[in-house]
Amino acid sequence: MEKLYTLSAVELIEKLKNKEIQVIDVVNSVYDRIDEVEEKVSSFISIVSREKALELAKLSQEKYNNGNFGKLEGIPVVIKDNMVSEGEKATAASKILGNYEGIYDAFVVKKLKEAGAIIIAKANMDEFAMGSTTKTSYVKETKNPWDLDRTPGGSSGGSASSVAAGEGIISLGSDTGGSIRQPASFNGLVGLKPTYGRVSRYGLIAFASSLDQIGPMGKSVEDVALMLSVIEGYDEMDTTSYEIESSNYFEEMSKDIKGLKIGIPKEYFEYELKPEFKKVFDESIEKFKELGAEIVDITLPHTEYAAPTYYIIAPAEASSNLARFDGVRYGYRASEFSGVEDLYIKSRSEGFGDEVKRRIMIGTYVLSAGFYDAYYKQAQKVRRLIKNDFDKAFSEVDVILAPATTGTAFRLDEPKTPVELYLEDVFTIPANMAGIPGLVVPAGKVEGLPVGIQLLGKAFDEKTLFRVGKAFENVVGKMDMAKL
Ligand code: GLN
Repeated sequence: MEKLYTLSAVELIEKLKNKEIQVIDVVNSVYDRIDEVEEKVSSFISIVSREKALELAKLSQEKYNNGNFGKLEGIPVVIKDNMVSEGEKATAASKILGNYEGIYDAFVVKKLKEAGAIIIAKANMDEFAMGSTTKTSYVKETKNPWDLDRTPGGSSGGSASSVAAGEGIISLGSDTGGSIRQPASFNGLVGLKPTYGRVSRYGLIAFASSLDQIGPMGKSVEDVALMLSVIEGYDEMDTTSYEIESSNYFEEMSKDIKGLKIGIPKEYFEYELKPEFKKVFDESIEKFKELGAEIVDITLPHTEYAAPTYYIIAPAEASSNLARFDGVRYGYRASEFSGVEDLYIKSRSEGFGDEVKRRIMIGTYVLSAGFYDAYYKQAQKVRRLIKNDFDKAFSEVDVILAPATTGTAFRLDEPKTPVELYLEDVFTIPANMAGIPGLVVPAGKVEGLPVGIQLLGKAFDEKTLFRVGKAFENVVGKMDMAKL
């Protein structure tokens, strides 16, 4: 029999409903896999004990037996360590929150529990979600299951590596400038950054509040759509939460894409991509044509300003959000200090890592009285221009097709300066700046490593992204599991 950890959530739920398998079989399969590969991959910061997960499995099994089960009943789920849940550690991979325990459930955690999901682990990540490699984690370095010498990407690296390695069936990451979509692409997964405001940020440890969104990562478009239907919805605890009706994503995914207009932004293809990598996109465009979509050339003229603008706005918001970590209210406190100011300085100097400090310094600088107008205010204006570009493009097309990354997963030992890493985010950042949804779907492999394409949609039009993504997945076929 195939190993259960290789199946998608939708496939497992089907088997559970038909009584072909039991929830404990699923949970044991995933925990056996964790025992087998976690030492090599290092996806997790903390793992729920197998005993506790099996207790929850029993409750879920009863629900299946009664015929009254939730949408993700009995499915082992991994969440990124920047989401809080009551009584569990949530460190955001930072020393400063090393021993912090959540005192309430994040909105998404509450929704997962109500849907019957079994949260089995908290995933490793870049510290406070700042990074693209998971290497800024204070805790450990995570490996890409496709090649253990490579990064799983970041910042949601552990959320991606765990699902790609079979250490979880589906996961949640967060995406401020690409942190769901880039690791999804690097690990051969489907990943969605939802529209800003669709998923509540209540209980997400904030990085840059006007950009952060929680979203799903999974083995198939269907899994990601199912997960979104569980975690979306209005939440009065998040003032940027939108009251918007959900759609029947599964009905939408059953439709073909004949006549849909897919825009190809010329600016995205002006970047130098390796020929083998570029080939995957050219082939993807051909597939969409064969599926009956109309390919339309479009322009997003302000694309080149997206990354520089992001690296002003995101640090600005981060410097403000991180002010709360002062050694008094949360987490780590320096052991020796003289007076309150010294307590702040020492706790923050010892508690934050280099990348976080770099962002706090940039953020404080661009918000300071003398530079605010020149940097922060200017950046906000450019952000509006980027959004206008998308509004105009979406008056002509239904979705936009773009690369997700500039190449395949980089080597862990590849020397890259912070700025080089920042510029890697060119293709993902625009969606966060405009607040629109972005879906990454595996498109193939280059030299044995997965590559994903990115579909960008109108605000709150995730349903069309799923429809187009599913049609594409149907012809490309699902990615196999990484051989470990
Ligand atoms: N790589 C980007 C950064 O370092 C994006 C991070 C994210 O989306 N959380 O800020």
